[in-house]
Amino acid sequence: MTILMNGRDLAQKVRESLKERVNKLKKRGVTPTLAVILVGDDEASKVYVRNKHRAAEKIGIKTIDKKLPQNAGQEEVIKVVKSYNNDPNVHGVLVQMPLPKQIDEKAVIDAISPKKDVDGSHPENMGRLFMNEARALPCTPRGIMELLDEYDIDVRGQEVVIVGRSNLVGRPLAALMINASATVTVAHSVTHKLQEVTKKADILVVAVGQAGMIDESYIKPGAVVIDVGINRTAEGKLSGDVNEASVMGKASFLTPVPGGVGPMTVSMLMKQTVEFAERSVVDD
Ligand code: NDP
Repeated sequence: MTILMNGRDLAQKVRESLKERVNKLKKRGVTPTLAVILVGDDEASKVYVRNKHRAAEKIGIKTIDKKLPQNAGQEEVIKVVKSYNNDPNVHGVLVQMPLPKQIDEKAVIDAISPKKDVDGSHPENMGRLFMNEARALPCTPRGIMELLDEYDIDVRGQEVVIVGRSNLVGRPLAALMINASATVTVAHSVTHKLQEVTKKADILVVAVGQAGMIDESYIKPGAVVIDVGINRTAEGKLSGDVNEASVMGKASFLTPVPGGVGPMTVSMLMKQTVEFAERSVVDD
């Protein structure tokens, strides 16, 4: 039997628990505030940004909705980022990716103050994470760790295979897993005999971006399968990187798409914004 891991419910639970922390902060005169910068007209990005604003509003987190045009220049974006870095009332700064072609994403990420980097993507935060001294964590990997924890899946000593090595998901998740004492393999598009690699996994995480690529032939019986992929099918439906029907019955646990990892990502963004606001009070 395969247990579907309910990321939606856990994400909601996290958001409920944040409300109390937000109220405490407000009593001390601090309103946790997240600045979200959206550059251009990418439709998917607009949806993601809207979801973030909605989630924040329900928790009591204030958001700043900064929109820049598709033809905005790199310096213009960096100037906006720096204005929020310097604003003591802003606790978190998030630039929605991807950015239009004329802008170097790396330069923009570098410009975010590490202390306000709620997405944990600044090189300083990434470096700290790899040294097991994390101050901010990329939201999707953190959400995956919390989801595993909720289902009492202990990663210590387990063979974890991550397919995908992006800065957003694969790499930081590998660091989190190492820090949690898992034995970690990171696979990617150049990996030889991928099936043989993934079949070793007690816990298989797939973050590739190819609908249904992983079927039952890639997993060992009883494996925990975490599907990070969000792909839109020709019919406009959301689909993960794992072929759910194929692995059902063979995997012990599986995250559905939608309703698995996705909602956790937004909740982790909210959690980190609240944590940063709490830290600002302690630092005063
Ligand atoms: P990227 O495109 O940045 O990275 C994809 C990774 O998959 C790369 O490392 C690539 O290898 C690897 N890969 C591609 N094809 C294959 C293959 N055939 N075999 C093995 N490895 C392969 O994607 P992201 O990490 O940003 O996102 C991955 C997926 O997760 C997407 O569907 C995205 O929408 C989703 N996502 C979901 C989130 C959520 O909240 N649920 C958050 C972030 C992303 P190489 O490095 O060699 O090119």
